[in-house]
Formats: sequence, C-alpha cells, structure tokens
Amino acid sequence: MRIKSHRLIGDDISQLTSPNQGGPFAAAAPDTLILHFTNGDDAAWAIDALRDPTPGGRVSAHLVVHRDGAVTQLVPFDTIAWHAGHSAWGGRTDFNQCSIGIEIDNAGRLQPEADHFVSWRGTGYDESDVVQATHRNERAPSWWHRYPQPQLDRVELLCALLVDRYKMRWILGHEEIAPDRKHDPGPAFPLDELRQRVLGQEPMLFYEDMDKTPI
Ligand SMILES: [Zn+2]
Repeated sequence: MRIKSHRLIGDDISQLTSPNQGGPFAAAAPDTLILHFTNGDDAAWAIDALRDPTPGGRVSAHLVVHRDGAVTQLVPFDTIAWHAGHSAWGGRTDFNQCSIGIEIDNAGRLQPEADHFVSWRGTGYDESDVVQATHRNERAPSWWHRYPQPQLDRVELLCALLVDRYKMRWILGHEEIAPDRKHDPGPAFPLDELRQRVLGQEPMLFYEDMDKTPI
C-alpha cells in the first residue's frame, strides 16, 4: 500500500469520489488524523451517506475502512473533507481544516436485549460481536460493536503510512475533539495503544507548538 497523487494504491483499495469536499488544504495542513466509527450497518451504507449531495447534511471522509480491512477512498489527501464538524482540542478549532478523516465501519453503541444486542438502527448483533467497556468521556460501562482484527490492523497501517507521508503529529478520536456530542471511535477501539505505537508518545497539546512551523 502506498500513496500516489494523494490517493492510496494497493490491494483491497477502491477509489470513489465524494462531492462533499472543501477545496485544498492550506499549505501547512493537514497535520492531524481523526478516527471515527461509521455508526451504521455496513461500509456500503456509510459510503452512500458520505457521498450524499443532499443540502443540509452533507458529510464526507477521506477513507472508509471495511470490516475485512478493505479501504475505500472518497476524497484525496490534499483536499478538505467534512467529517469533524464543530470541534476543538488543544487550543485549535474546526478540525476539518487541518485533518484527514478515517471512518471505520462499526455499528457503535449497542443495547442489550433478551439474547442479542441491537444498534440504534435496529440491526441485531451476536454477543460474540460485542465489547462491554467504559467510554473515556463516561463513568458507567456500556456495550459496543467489536472491531475485527484485520480492520484494526489496516487502520494502524493507514495511520503509520499517513503519519510518515504527511508528517502528521496528532492522532485523535472524534470523541476527543467533540466530546459533548460524539462517541467515536469509542472504547472498543484501542486508540491510546495505536497512537503510542504509531507516534511513540501521547499527543502534545497544540498550544505548546502554536508558534512553530510544522515539521
Ligand atoms: Zn465521527
């Protein structure tokens, strides 16, 4: 897997185009990766939503990672996608302007029923697909759709590739830049472990680096 002309090339990579995009990044951006879950039934559902041109709810992301590890790219890496929404972290706001967004196919939070679990969309999940864990922004445990290992492996490979190619300095969850309204990628995703492995450190706050030119 490699990057050519701001598009991924490799096995299990598909290229589509989303009309929901905001033009080229400023010269110094992007320097941050934002990880999301799709909160939906499957990757096809998410890709449709991320390409929907209907005014009022237009969203997109650079990449969608399917549960088997396949990847669909919707926006080239030199172009702004609309995945972060109202967001703030470490002294900076409006993360669409400085970040690459990766959507990971996952149903999100699940509710227990008699002998299975159900997503907000009403889709049922077997207990083997469910993780019980406490969200970083909450106090009580709840139930979350499990991420398969091939999907986690591909997300980490993508993060390492993008950090290397674009000299990115931060990997953050949507739940960290919009904690009052977002829960993704959630506690079933090993976010702290991934950024420790890929970046080798906990993220520094932006204000420590605001006056420095990005590396
Ligand atoms: Zn999100």
